[in-house]
Amino acid sequence: MEFVQFHPTGMVWPPSVRGILVTESVRGDGGVLTNSEGKRFMFNYIPEVFKDKYADNEAEADRWYKDQNNNRRPPELLPRDEVARAINSEVKAGRGSPRGGVYLDVSKRLPAEEIRRRLPSMWHQFKELADVDITEQPMEVGPTCHYVMGGVKVDPDTAAAYQVPGLFAAGEVAGGMHGSNRLGGNSLSDLLVFGRRAGAGAAEYVKKLASNRPSVSDKEIARAHNHLNEPFTRDGSENPYALHDELQNVTQDLVGIIRNEKELIDALMKLESIRQRAAKVKATGGRAFNPGFHLALDLENMLLVSESIARSALARQESRGGHTRDDYPKMDPNWRTINHLSKWSGKQIEIDPAKSSMLPVELIEVFEMDELKKYYTEGELAKGGK
Ligand SMILES: Cc1cc2nc3c(=O)[nH]c(=O)nc-3n(C[C@H](O)[C@H](O)[C@H](O)COP(=O)(O)OP(=O)(O)OC[C@H]3O[C@@H](n4cnc5c(N)ncnc54)[C@H](O)[C@@H]3O)c2cc1C
Repeated sequence: MEFVQFHPTGMVWPPSVRGILVTESVRGDGGVLTNSEGKRFMFNYIPEVFKDKYADNEAEADRWYKDQNNNRRPPELLPRDEVARAINSEVKAGRGSPRGGVYLDVSKRLPAEEIRRRLPSMWHQFKELADVDITEQPMEVGPTCHYVMGGVKVDPDTAAAYQVPGLFAAGEVAGGMHGSNRLGGNSLSDLLVFGRRAGAGAAEYVKKLASNRPSVSDKEIARAHNHLNEPFTRDGSENPYALHDELQNVTQDLVGIIRNEKELIDALMKLESIRQRAAKVKATGGRAFNPGFHLALDLENMLLVSESIARSALARQESRGGHTRDDYPKMDPNWRTINHLSKWSGKQIEIDPAKSSMLPVELIEVFEMDELKKYYTEGELAKGGK
């Protein structure tokens, strides 16, 4: 669950559209990223390995748009995770925009008509949603959560969940398909292949049950019913939207792109406090079409997912794919074969990682896929193996 992919540029304002993607074409078409001091900060974030491909000064970066053969690329076009980490560092260093992002400006590069022609949906998106005219003003952008590599542990052939009989999961909600960092476009193929397997697996499961279908007792139904009704019946005064907002801020600030032990422990404490307050969330009105009521119920699951990510991130003492630790910046081969499995024990959990007996995160060995691996060994390829 610790592996979460971030896209470098999402809208940060207004709150109702926070996170909506700002396409990479804006940077491809010459958009530059600046901080609150007006500095084009990406020049400070070119990793050693990319030094020969990316310009280290504005003049060369600007020339690249006209002459790509004789100049290096602007650093705004570095890979997604590099740009996302750079923006994150600027904001954390106090050089962010008032709404917690940085500025992305294409207005000084291209004439207004050209911007509207090349980036019509972006022009429309900012005008409609934020009342910002990108042909005249910079956009405020920040990293946004793009994909969660973790998810429900399922059997790869049937998509049946290991822990809950009768539950099938495919797509982004299932875990393990994309390792620590999904490659672009691979979600679609995942959905097609494993969606079909899940459907076939579920049909087979039901067929095998025949007349022995599991039954639910009236007591269980009453318990679930009462639980659902609690936001209306309980004595509480917490507002689900306010808690949701706090939860977003805690996970974005402390469990986001760059993590460290201190902040993750801080996040776990804050999550625990939000959980206690979530038990006092109040909803008014009826059950139908009531977003406040729905959010009150969703909060429980959001907290569970957030905690699972924070705990898994705390346990993994290395940086790999969609998990970057400031205090363990290198990839460690010893962690390569380890996955984390979170199991909700239903009990109060110790925050201190030293008291691990109640921790829901287990370490499990990733099994080698020998049947695939053998086709990729040099010997097999030399023999014409497929
Ligand atoms: C901006 C963006 C661009 C992307 N571009 C690409 C790309 O180019 N190529 C690619 O391969 N991948 C891309 N991805 C990733 C890909 O789009 C997603 O991983 C994929 O759509 C996930 O599909 P899904 O069916 O697993 O989940 P979802 O599409 O999230 O579907 C889950 C559904 O369940 C519904 N739901 C949730 N809770 C409940 C409930 N309690 N009861 C009933 N229904 C419920 C939701 O409303 C939703 O319709 C992109 C992702 C983003 C955010």
